[in-house]
Amino acid sequence: MNCSNINKIVKETIRSDIQLQSVYSISNADNKCIKLDAMESPYQLPDFVKKEIADIVFQTPINRYPGVMDNTIFELKSKIKENFNVPEGAEVIFGNGSDELINLIIQASCSPGDTIISPWPSFTYFNIAAKIHHASFIGVSLDKNLNLDLDSMLDAISKYSPKVVFLAIPNNPTGGLWSKNSIQTIVENAPGLVVLDEAYQPFTTHTWMPYVTQLDNVVVLRTLSKIGLAGLRVGYLSGRIQWLEQINKVRPPYNMNVLTISVLFTLLKYRSVIDAQTAKSLIERKLLACALSKLPGIHVFPSEGNFILFRFSGKKSANEIYNLLLNKKILIKNFSGMHPLLDNCLRVSVGTPEENLIFVNTLNEIIKFI
Ligand SMILES: *Cc1c(COP(=O)(O)O)cnc(C)c1O
Repeated sequence: MNCSNINKIVKETIRSDIQLQSVYSISNADNKCIKLDAMESPYQLPDFVKKEIADIVFQTPINRYPGVMDNTIFELKSKIKENFNVPEGAEVIFGNGSDELINLIIQASCSPGDTIISPWPSFTYFNIAAKIHHASFIGVSLDKNLNLDLDSMLDAISKYSPKVVFLAIPNNPTGGLWSKNSIQTIVENAPGLVVLDEAYQPFTTHTWMPYVTQLDNVVVLRTLSKIGLAGLRVGYLSGRIQWLEQINKVRPPYNMNVLTISVLFTLLKYRSVIDAQTAKSLIERKLLACALSKLPGIHVFPSEGNFILFRFSGKKSANEIYNLLLNKKILIKNFSGMHPLLDNCLRVSVGTPEENLIFVNTLNEIIKFI
């Protein structure tokens, strides 16, 4: 078949910057692989919860649009508020994962050429989403210890007057938690909206959620992905009605599907199951960090998330070690070459005790031979 015609029409129709962009890469893990690359919870739900989910799915009318016949979305919002301590006076909107909410925030705020700022390296999707919506993205370098450089942030804010500042707290992929004072200072100096992305909040002690009604230019973004529900795709944004009613205008009307809504109701009844899994991951993070820091030539960065970033020093190459781990069917995330500050760095998600043990032992074997 002759493709030159379709190629020509595509080339002339699709935005040229989109044609140049690469696809968000998701690694193809096979079933036998130990998957520690994407900060998923390693734990399954117990069978009795899965059975209840099967029942509720059976009863859900999938011929209907979500939330039309009843008040399900409204009820789900109040359940989420109650479960995750959203303060009185704050509203909530849902996204198909918090990724979608990042898009909606930028779409609602930025005209072409407006600026988005985030400390950098941070969550890559901030940059991707900004570009998709014709905003320019300024990543403000962290310092060499991968901490927030407050002065540079404030300089960038005064220079670029960003419409939106994204702060991932704790930060992905570094694991650091920026100090309350620094964040407060950024919030006070930002001319527009500051999005506090608390994707990893369940793994740390601090949250900005209680202050979301007191700060005029702050919204808090959360996801259920890192606490065992990555496949369900649920994120929520909380903030004052003045912000959320505007952002809500660009949300596709039925972005939460009926199955997700039904399943989420059921899961919220078993918060204690989810919380127990999170507690296990916290214990495992400590053990894993400790085991990694004992290996020769490895620097472990302190993490407040369900993952650990570490750097190889000396002659050892993170690329080579990453590939050798992959040969042994262990998939983690390679950050070498992504940013100068992440040179020779790998990131591992906290797995089950068994997975972490296999990972550390395999890594130890590999290191011995290079
Ligand atoms: C994982 C992650 C998200 C996106 O999570 P969803 O699965 O889309 O809800 C958002 N922000 C940060 C910082 C993340 O690490």
